[in-house]
Amino acid sequence: MTQPSSFSVPASRRAVVVGGGPAGLMAAETLSQQGIQVDLYDAMPSVGRKFLLAGKGGMNLTHSEPMDRFMTRYGKAADNLHAALAAFDNQALRDWAQGLGVATFIGSSGRVFPTDMKAAPLLRAWLHRLREQGVRFHMRHRWLGWDAQGHCRFVHGDAEIQVAADVLILALGGGSWARLGSDGSWMPLLAQQGVALSPLLPSNCGFERPWTPFFQEKFAGQPLLTVAARVQRSEPEGEQNSEQPMRQGQFVITASGVEGSLIYALSAALRDQILTQGSAVLELDLLPDKSAERVLHELQSGRGARSLSSFLQTRLGLDKLKIALLYELLSKAQLADTNALAQAIKQLPLPLLATRPLDEAISSAGGVRFSAIDECGMLTARAAVFCAGEMLDWEAPTGGYLLTACFATGKQAALAALDCLNSAK
Ligand SMILES: Cc1cc2nc3c(=O)[nH]c(=O)nc-3n(C[C@H](O)[C@H](O)[C@H](O)COP(=O)(O)OP(=O)(O)OC[C@H]3O[C@@H](n4cnc5c(N)ncnc54)[C@H](O)[C@@H]3O)c2cc1C
Repeated sequence: MTQPSSFSVPASRRAVVVGGGPAGLMAAETLSQQGIQVDLYDAMPSVGRKFLLAGKGGMNLTHSEPMDRFMTRYGKAADNLHAALAAFDNQALRDWAQGLGVATFIGSSGRVFPTDMKAAPLLRAWLHRLREQGVRFHMRHRWLGWDAQGHCRFVHGDAEIQVAADVLILALGGGSWARLGSDGSWMPLLAQQGVALSPLLPSNCGFERPWTPFFQEKFAGQPLLTVAARVQRSEPEGEQNSEQPMRQGQFVITASGVEGSLIYALSAALRDQILTQGSAVLELDLLPDKSAERVLHELQSGRGARSLSSFLQTRLGLDKLKIALLYELLSKAQLADTNALAQAIKQLPLPLLATRPLDEAISSAGGVRFSAIDECGMLTARAAVFCAGEMLDWEAPTGGYLLTACFATGKQAALAALDCLNSAK
């Protein structure tokens, strides 16, 4: 895949894309379709490594929900991403995959997957098409910023090379899973240029809480199925945490805390609360299909000679892990008090102390702030430089929203770069 790089390549309507994830590849495709010579550089020996990893557990390309609901998944960045996602939405992404010979289907949750659930065939077909379109790939080239002449600096083996470009698209990814290439080392390079950045933080991540040795040994790795949860807000004394709805799902107990889809969905709020208050409390409903009144009524029916565990299991249908969690988190007095126990089953507070490290997260929040980008889509601090993908300051839950925004912003950055090239003609 690597092609020899010359020293100081001259520029003539030439675009350089740095980063060969979905955002960078989409930018390269969009520009090369318009006849622009594209050279794509990546620090790793091959492109799309995180994309391939995303395909391992079933490649969730996008989500099928209506776009007005889809947009809400980007929280406070929704307005900033609106134009990109309106121009390349969930259906456009499915059509694009179909164009590469990869059919997709909508799963029961509304998530969209390739029919074979894999990323590799899609990436293979895509790279083939990109090469046919004339995109040149330069692997093992780490971008180091710019030299005094404004050329891009790359290190390749022991050599440093300079590359001139009319437009530069940076699609360097976020800060998680550094071994796949996106290590966030571009942050200081852009900070030096005066680009406004938000710190990279874990998103869609696990959280830490110390379990007792018994609980950890017996239950780490086990899934907590059919629960609901919300982040307990620190309301003034006496006020209820009522306005936030509980979200149903499942998660996994880990040796150091919790992780999994339900936790990821709440991770931004949990993380932000830990950042501001030092800890956060996840409130769990262990029996989301039973009302609080029903749970209290069942508990009041009396357990006779049965042990509490066996009573909770047979009368309420709580499984071993849920019962163990009650024993782990409640005092003896709370377990013995029917009202307190009923309340805990429906609203069990699980304190969390820290996020797991950024490198383990599915994605990262933070990066290049939208305020650092002008109305033409260019960095205000550096002319003819555009950014795309996860390195921009947005976050979203899992469900295909991450990849969709990466593809869409890759396309948007390329179209902005094209305008820039055309206006310079
Ligand atoms: C385990 C896991 C599962 C996931 N599953 C899904 C999923 O099912 N659905 C979904 O929507 N999202 C999923 N994601 C998230 C998704 O994969 C990422 O959001 C997406 O890959 C980001 O795309 P990107 O192009 O912005 O960056 P990346 O894919 O991270 O690519 C960035 C590229 O830039 C290169 N690079 C970085 N710095 C330099 C440098 N200085 N010089 C040269 N090159 C550099 C890197 O080598 C890399 O190739 C998953 C992520 C993980 C970790």
